[in-house]
Amino acid sequence: MASRDLQLILVSLYSYFLESILLPAQSLARGRSYHRIRRFLETSQWWSAEQLRDFQWQELTRLLTIAFCSVPFYQRKYAAAGARLEDIRTWDDFQRLPPLTREEVNQHREELFPRDLTVRRLPHATGGSSGVPVRFYRTWQSYDWRLAATHRAYSWSGCRQGERTLYLWAAPLASQSFASRLRERAHAFLHRRLMVPTWLQNEALWERTYREALRFRPRFLVGYVSSLLNFARYLESRQLHLPTLRAVLTAAEPLPASVRGFLSQVFRVPVFETYGSREFMSIGAECDRHQGLHLNVENLVVEIASPDPDGYGDILITDLHNLGTVFIRYAIGDASRLASRPCSCGRGLPLLEPVERRVADVITLPGGRVISPIFFRHVLKEIPEILQYQVRQESPDRVVLLLVLARELSASSQSRLRAELGTVLNDTEFEICVVPSIPLGPSGKLHSVVAFRGPQPDPEPGGIPLE
Ligand SMILES: [Zn+2]
Repeated sequence: MASRDLQLILVSLYSYFLESILLPAQSLARGRSYHRIRRFLETSQWWSAEQLRDFQWQELTRLLTIAFCSVPFYQRKYAAAGARLEDIRTWDDFQRLPPLTREEVNQHREELFPRDLTVRRLPHATGGSSGVPVRFYRTWQSYDWRLAATHRAYSWSGCRQGERTLYLWAAPLASQSFASRLRERAHAFLHRRLMVPTWLQNEALWERTYREALRFRPRFLVGYVSSLLNFARYLESRQLHLPTLRAVLTAAEPLPASVRGFLSQVFRVPVFETYGSREFMSIGAECDRHQGLHLNVENLVVEIASPDPDGYGDILITDLHNLGTVFIRYAIGDASRLASRPCSCGRGLPLLEPVERRVADVITLPGGRVISPIFFRHVLKEIPEILQYQVRQESPDRVVLLLVLARELSASSQSRLRAELGTVLNDTEFEICVVPSIPLGPSGKLHSVVAFRGPQPDPEPGGIPLE
């Protein structure tokens, strides 16, 4: 027990050293602002909602002035929409500006930054989980904001920098140069991270991961939901356990309540959902009250565009500090709703409800009928046996639902599933298949809805058809 206590003290000391001395010193020596922003964010999270809103407005008006006066793309786009800077006096005025699409970012990349920008632009790209990678630029200033926001968001689960953390990550290792691999290794060593690439998942990978984890003794486990789920199923089937874990953090994919329950049962620790993207890094994360995802509003404005009667709608994001590519009201391709209540932890940061759609297509049926991915989420989240699903439109009028189950579907779940899906797919052939696992998309994420795009090269799923 005494040696365990000593270990915990040493861990805290190392985290303290890294967070309070080494990282700030590094930032200072490089002439960067990470250390200042990180300190600011520690304080501002406890501001009132009004104070945070005022801060956002001040940063937003500064950004809009730049966009209207010196970013060629916005000058043209907003002029065509009849929008003038002097007309934007309230949040409602701002919300009338036309959104930015990912196609626009790709097509007008060289017109999306201020003409007089003097700082370096650092190229970056998304993983292309929606089919097309988005290429954009960041500045060091914006990188410092997003890194500080990410570190704060992780700290809400207790995962501070320097804590031993195991990452199940779809990290692209092959295309990197020797120097950048070396740099990454040094970084992982300093931050005490064990990175396990999960592009290709099979028994051998999980066996190796488990063995390495026992040696590494992680206190935190971070991963894509699908990777965590597959690892948990491996551990459960062999009755294995990682005794040093304190929390699991999920990323990159939606976290249905059934999966959260399963992960916390297998790993025997609380599960924290986080929401982020390559374009912005951390957007939001749960604190220990698990009442929603606290948004990083000092760096981002997160809005819901044309919400439905329940408040759900597409998420639009404005990055307040990235002049490398100016994102204003960017349609990120996910949907959710804002919670109206504050969190009981006392932070003024508003809450986003769990994100409803990620890496999902809209299905168009013959005759032009369109089904939103939100429909499937709503129906399938009510079926307790379902761990993962994928809706595949195999041909214009044939839809297959692949299911990974925690246990066999009960008769009532089966009839409920058929009845609910039948309300929308009544004139379409649809089949339900139980499969052992669902292959991940090219970005390493699970695609929950895949629309028909012409002849499909994929083989048949090979599941067990349900009657
Ligand atoms: Zn909270």
